[in-house]
Amino acid sequence: MGNMFDVIIVGGGAAGIGAARRLAVHGSSALLLEASSRLGGRAYTQDFGGYPLDLGCEWLHSGDRNTWVGIAEASGFPVDRGDPPWSKAHPGIVQDEEGQEAAQRAFGDWEERLRTVAAGSDQASDALEPGGTWNAYVRAIAGFMSGVAPEGISATDYLAYDEASTSRNWHLPLGYGTLVAASLPSSTTLRLATPAQRIDLTADGVSVTTRAGVVRAGAAILTVSTAVLAGGAIQLPAGIDPWREAAANLPLGRNEKVFLEIGRDAAFEPGSYAYGNLHDPRAAAYSIRSNGWPVIEAFLGGDGARIVEEEGPAAGFAFVLAELGALFGSDVASAIRPLAATSWSRMASIGGAYSCALPGRSGERARLARPFEDRIFFAGEATHPFDFTTAHGAHDSGQRAADEAMAALKDRHGLGRRGAFAAAGAQAVG
Ligand SMILES: Cc1cc2nc3c(=O)[nH]c(=O)nc-3n(C[C@H](O)[C@H](O)[C@H](O)COP(=O)(O)OP(=O)(O)OC[C@H]3O[C@@H](n4cnc5c(N)ncnc54)[C@H](O)[C@@H]3O)c2cc1C
Repeated sequence: MGNMFDVIIVGGGAAGIGAARRLAVHGSSALLLEASSRLGGRAYTQDFGGYPLDLGCEWLHSGDRNTWVGIAEASGFPVDRGDPPWSKAHPGIVQDEEGQEAAQRAFGDWEERLRTVAAGSDQASDALEPGGTWNAYVRAIAGFMSGVAPEGISATDYLAYDEASTSRNWHLPLGYGTLVAASLPSSTTLRLATPAQRIDLTADGVSVTTRAGVVRAGAAILTVSTAVLAGGAIQLPAGIDPWREAAANLPLGRNEKVFLEIGRDAAFEPGSYAYGNLHDPRAAAYSIRSNGWPVIEAFLGGDGARIVEEEGPAAGFAFVLAELGALFGSDVASAIRPLAATSWSRMASIGGAYSCALPGRSGERARLARPFEDRIFFAGEATHPFDFTTAHGAHDSGQRAADEAMAALKDRHGLGRRGAFAAAGAQAVG
């Protein structure tokens, strides 16, 4: 039986959609299989009473070089280039301003010491000052960035992202998830709620087994999270263990969000920010009335996110209400009500927030990104050399994998210089 498609893309998140966009430019036929009943993966905007809230990615990090900005503008999505809320502290709350400054300095010092640690143990916790006053704060912020405690962070990996970041954080008022889900080209055949169960190599490509039957293509692009890849949910050909091991060395950290609705008469400063307890590694960061909506978003990382994961959303609400009570006064509880909480870590098709290389394992990203037998190509945020953890890194990795797959198909089918030049032309306009 011949191949039905040039390429089968497994996973409809930012990476899968990035791959599909590039394949459309190449004029290649593509089937996208997505396990869940929606597109977007960790890019997910949900409407709560008229407020499009981003449950996953929200910020166009490195906005001045973020591929999604160009896609948004070409599709008519507004991009807010204003300062993010964390640049404007909420006025008049009980906050230890001196402590805040000292904590931020301690975080900067920790990041500086990471350079030395990267050349040695590579374990980011070794950059903590023994008994340091602000270690809880450093742990909480590292938890926001990487989703894990410094003991589980490779200093080299952390610095690779940090040094490439331009620190411009832009925003999509209609939602990052809305944009990602709207960006699949119409030429891609889409099958939602159709998980890939097994991938086999064939004489001229791959076959992918789903509940609905077997589909064949010249190549597959696998974009599932490292948690899914390292787990056994998809059966893969013999010999692929090094890729699974690489994924296991890039585990997903924990990050969750808790949203609260602000009551009609409660006064909270629009577009402002507050930080929880400076001395608690579980502390949350609060974005208040973003876009003018009557919503407070609490962002939890590492130990804080584990409260939601292990004890459930009610425990998450209780934790953030206690922190907000300490900041705004105990009667805050009557001014806000729980709206929504995420559970990325508990979703079988995702399994966490974003990847973080274990100490000594920063090289695993390149190992994971290698093609397997010129038939299976790997994309997803974890495979990007420096924009990992992000939706734009995921998108760009999908484009890279699509180019690799098309080059392999051209080689296999004996296309000469003309084909190669056509591919180069497609790459230039993609
Ligand atoms: C709370 C949170 C906040 C974040 N904030 C930001 C931010 O502000 N800015 C930013 O840039 N990034 C942020 N991120 C990270 C960003 O969302 C991700 O890095 C990016 O969306 C990952 O895209 P991906 O395509 O690599 O993976 P995914 O989005 O995980 O896509 C993989 C897809 O594969 C599907 N799948 C799984 N198994 C199968 C199977 N067997 N068959 C078919 N399909 C399958 C999944 O359902 C999923 O849709 C955040 C993430 C979280 C969780």
